[in-house]
Amino acid sequence: MEKINKTEDEWKAELNTQTFQVLRKHGTERAFSGEYNDHHDDGTYVCAGCGNALFDSRTKFNSGTGWPSFYEPIKVDAVETTTDTKFFMTRTEVHCAKCDGHLGHVFTDGPNPTGLRYCMNSVSLKFTNEKL
Ligand code: FE
Repeated sequence: MEKINKTEDEWKAELNTQTFQVLRKHGTERAFSGEYNDHHDDGTYVCAGCGNALFDSRTKFNSGTGWPSFYEPIKVDAVETTTDTKFFMTRTEVHCAKCDGHLGHVFTDGPNPTGLRYCMNSVSLKFTNEKL
């Protein structure tokens, strides 16, 4: 996938403050605060930074964590992961494959069929009713 490269100032100019903090500064929104935690419409969640299609609503499940959760990305190459050792924990960080924007983390306590739980920040996502 072709990468989008923008400077910090460019991202700051086009994203709202909260989205900038999460996508570009690896922030985390407060649990149960995001608009997509309890959101059940049919469609596609795209990256709030670049519009890359990330998750199909059919893979969304209620994790009870307070963050929108999915059991798999829309395509294998839609997201990428890195190892995150912040806060004395080893976690797998998830970011958009196109703009490298931080989305959340993936854990191995998810439901079938993958057993994965992509724990995402609502502010990193944008919902569209379109099937992408
Ligand atoms: Fe992106």
